[in-house]
Amino acid sequence: MQKKIGLLQNNLCIFAKKLIMAKRKTKVIKTRNNATMTESQFWGFIRSALRMKSRWWKPISLCKANGKRAYKGANKRQKFEYQCAECKGWFPDKQIAVDHIIPCGALSCADDLPGFVERLFIEVDGLQILCDTCHNKKTNLERTTKIKKI
Ligand SMILES: [Zn+2]
Repeated sequence: MQKKIGLLQNNLCIFAKKLIMAKRKTKVIKTRNNATMTESQFWGFIRSALRMKSRWWKPISLCKANGKRAYKGANKRQKFEYQCAECKGWFPDKQIAVDHIIPCGALSCADDLPGFVERLFIEVDGLQILCDTCHNKKTNLERTTKIKKI
């Protein structure tokens, strides 16, 4: 009996390995852009194009303007500093990011598009300034909760 179970386990193991190998060999079909792009490459391409356009979105610069004050510290090159909405600390331009309070989320298929665009191009009340530390904390938390949901 013990031997039989052992043999069965061994066979199962070989079977699983073969499955993994077969999966690795499967090529992702390039369905987009004259058969040069996979679905996920295509949606990544669309996502980055939209993100680039959001650089000229006025509410983002307005959000930064609302959270800034004149800098009076020792660095003569620094004119302004910005307040983090989370820790309330003041930081130079390089150490802050304008954050979407509701995350833009994934863009991996056409169904995601309307919601993604609405969340990305949001008005000023949907945005906040976060320092790099608070921003990293938020994105890491989003990632771990996403993994848990799966
Ligand atoms: Zn902060």
